[in-house]
Amino acid sequence: MGTSTRFDLVQKDIPQAWYNIAADFPTPMAPHMHPGTQQPAKPDDMLAIFPPSIVEQEFSTQRWIEMPEEVRDVLSLWRPTPLMRSVRLEKALDTPAHIYYKYEGASPAGSHKPNSAVPQAWYNRHDGVKRLATETGAGQWGSSLSMACKLFGLECIVYMVASSYKQKPYRRMAMETWGATCHSSPSNETAFGRKIRSEDPHTAGSLGIAISEAVEDTVTHPGTKYALGSVLNHVCHHQTVIGLEAIKQMELAGEYPDVVIGCAGGGSNFAGIAFPFARLNFTEGRKTRLVAVEPASCPSLTKGEFRYDFGDTAMTTPLLKMYTMGNDFMPPALHAGGLRYHGMAPLVSHLTSLGMVEPRAYEQMEVFAAATLFAQTEGLIPAPESSHAIKAAIDEALEAKKEGKKRVIVFNLSGHGLLDLASVV
Ligand SMILES: *Cc1c(COP(=O)(O)O)cnc(C)c1O
Repeated sequence: MGTSTRFDLVQKDIPQAWYNIAADFPTPMAPHMHPGTQQPAKPDDMLAIFPPSIVEQEFSTQRWIEMPEEVRDVLSLWRPTPLMRSVRLEKALDTPAHIYYKYEGASPAGSHKPNSAVPQAWYNRHDGVKRLATETGAGQWGSSLSMACKLFGLECIVYMVASSYKQKPYRRMAMETWGATCHSSPSNETAFGRKIRSEDPHTAGSLGIAISEAVEDTVTHPGTKYALGSVLNHVCHHQTVIGLEAIKQMELAGEYPDVVIGCAGGGSNFAGIAFPFARLNFTEGRKTRLVAVEPASCPSLTKGEFRYDFGDTAMTTPLLKMYTMGNDFMPPALHAGGLRYHGMAPLVSHLTSLGMVEPRAYEQMEVFAAATLFAQTEGLIPAPESSHAIKAAIDEALEAKKEGKKRVIVFNLSGHGLLDLASVV
């Protein structure tokens, strides 16, 4: 046998509780604000679109949030996910660095997103909700929520950004297989969608527009709530299963990371891999560097402003303090649809403003090259979003080579790219 490449956990190692980083911030983050009164939002303000249990998590400052047993059971369909060491990539780079990746593409939908879709569907059903409305960019969140809703007996309505609806028919078919209804956004289903379509019939759509449609659908249909796949605090909490498992797996590997890397669209998978390691930086004096990688064409963390902004285009959501390109920002129709969001999770933004995250942006072509090298050495075809993290991992490994020193690198491989190949050619 050669070098160990897999560090496997078993079902009982799935975390029993999610980690809430808000409990450990040295200075508290800015509260969400009510858009009308400009005062800190109260839990009641969010109950129009979210169920009480989710609102409670959104405002929680409790360090650990217990996971319902039924949620853990469903997560065990694919969790714990593998942690792998990419020795073939290391060899190709001729680097003394050790490169590990956590593989979240192992879920039924092919990404990390079911980690939050499953608890969100569970809490909605628990609170008596019958129908969930949401938006999706590349289709990853919509398909994850479709699956989760079906498993818990909820109806699911998805507004899919028009450009992706055209380019990614397989994700739409996956949603329909899981029993959801999927509309191209802007759609004729909502007043906001009809207004945008009348102004620009050929618009490519955007996540901000699709969010506005899903929110309008929610408030105009009884028994319906809204679900968001990234950005908000509760989504970041749910994703911490990634990092909590990775910590145990690195113990099996007998190493501790010098640097932890995740790609960042709305910030949830980065939060998922990074926050549990950030906790050990706070509480055990560890010095792990946390690198968040975004596309140069949608650079909220590296070029955006840190201020209050709306989460959507129609300005209906609470105001969130975050790094943002502005709520009317229209990113170019780049391949990595999941990284097109104009803002960044307030929790990730706050950690960044404290100087504890190194944000980085890469161009599309260098990201493609990294993805190709990874596929040709490790076998897996990564999602275009995840490939941003791979590019950063490779750069870290090449720096280690220049220094002639070992560096332990862990990155999150947020999803596989088998349904994204049409956008590569
Ligand atoms: C949605 C998605 C992302 C970006 O979303 P975050 O909330 O920033 O994690 C990254 N990778 C994949 C595979 C995705 O589907």
